[in-house]
Amino acid sequence: SSTVVWFRRDLRTADHPALLAAAERASRALALFVLDPVLLRASGGPRVEFLHRCLRSLDADLGGRLVVVEGDPVEVVPRVAAEVGATSVHVSADAGPYGRARDAAVAERVELVRAGSPYAVTPGRVTKPDGTPYRVFTPFCRAWLEHGWHSPARTDASTVDWIRSDLGRDLPAGDGLPDVRALWEAFRDEKLPDYATRRDRPDLDATSRFSPFLKWGVVHPRTLLADLGRGAGAQAFRTELAWRDFYADVLWHQPESARRNFNRAFDRMPVDDDRERFEAWCAGRTGYPFVDAGMRQLLAEGWMHNRVRMVVASFLVKDLHLPWWWGARHFMRHLVDGDLASNQHGWQWAAGTGTDAAPYFRVFNPVTQGEKFDPAGDYVRRYVPELRDVPGKAVHQPRDPIVDHAQERREALARYAAVKG
Ligand code: FAD
Repeated sequence: SSTVVWFRRDLRTADHPALLAAAERASRALALFVLDPVLLRASGGPRVEFLHRCLRSLDADLGGRLVVVEGDPVEVVPRVAAEVGATSVHVSADAGPYGRARDAAVAERVELVRAGSPYAVTPGRVTKPDGTPYRVFTPFCRAWLEHGWHSPARTDASTVDWIRSDLGRDLPAGDGLPDVRALWEAFRDEKLPDYATRRDRPDLDATSRFSPFLKWGVVHPRTLLADLGRGAGAQAFRTELAWRDFYADVLWHQPESARRNFNRAFDRMPVDDDRERFEAWCAGRTGYPFVDAGMRQLLAEGWMHNRVRMVVASFLVKDLHLPWWWGARHFMRHLVDGDLASNQHGWQWAAGTGTDAAPYFRVFNPVTQGEKFDPAGDYVRRYVPELRDVPGKAVHQPRDPIVDHAQERREALARYAAVKG
């Protein structure tokens, strides 16, 4: 008997519950990935290129048996299953709104067996004692730790006997991924011990940079959690993974929070629609060096340090008074780790409209943030070449700023106060 393993955000063979489920059900399986034009259209070049790298690595791991098909999954998946005589399709569950609707449509045409998810704890499982979802991180995190998670599933490419097929198309030639296990071990041994104290410093390269691997499921968070050990660094890292699970949980309970304010009181707040200012922000030309460095890092690398994400997001919302979803869309297009749950809720946090709502009166000062978290100015000089000759932290001083921070801060506070009434 045959089945299909439809890979989505689980582009690996290690610690993969759906492989176990497939092997239990059938003697052979087809490995399928569907390039969905709807998702590709929303993605910029670096994101698509990274996805191709993940797929090349997965294909190599599967001995060249990954079948890649372009098209609408609702049509492609049942058709491919029928072509190999499979009556079931195995997947890791998708918790996002688009994925849930897509999977429901696929499940009407072929049996869809869900096993595992991209999270340590499947979204929806951690609830308050009365069964309602958490809306604040700290109590969620406590309950999440108490709930716990399964230990890693023992799987690899040989767990399943893969069907060879010429149904798919070739991926464009190019590199696969580096050795992700070796990258993890290097981070764990060299950087994790100081992670708690250094993670906020964009100049230091002190974080794991695992978000793209986690986004595409090249590694399961459980695999990392099982390998963390003790200590302040391990604890801080575990908490970051809890944020990732928390935001997925919030989105699972409230799919509409991807598009509109989690706290609906802010629907009444007026926002501007100045495209020119938005373009300046996107291009890293606001005249605030720390903001510009972040926006240029995003364009150059498809990634931005977390501290800088917070500062540029605050700047868009509170200095430019533009809608957070404009910024969120720009991030989703360019971030290689772009993830609907973490991104939209990271933005809502910065905008003060989200779950833990950074108090709305907290407005990041882009100059002092730079001086504090990039004390020698190295981060700015790395990404803003025209400032390369400015020494030390003087590099953080605004140059031809498009707005005056002190004035816009007052404006933001007035707008927020009116809503808070
Ligand atoms: P590390 O510090 O090494 O953290 C380890 C892992 O924990 C990360 O890989 C990530 O999976 C998770 N994590 C860390 N911080 C957060 C957080 N605040 N929220 C959720 N998960 C977290 N993260 C994304 O993965 N995708 C996004 O699209 C995304 N958009 C963001 C938008 C804004 C406005 C903000 C403020 C944050 C956003 N984040 C997003 C969270 C965070 O910035 C990144 O996860 C982090 O910078 C990734 O770098 P790292 O892997 O080196 O992190």
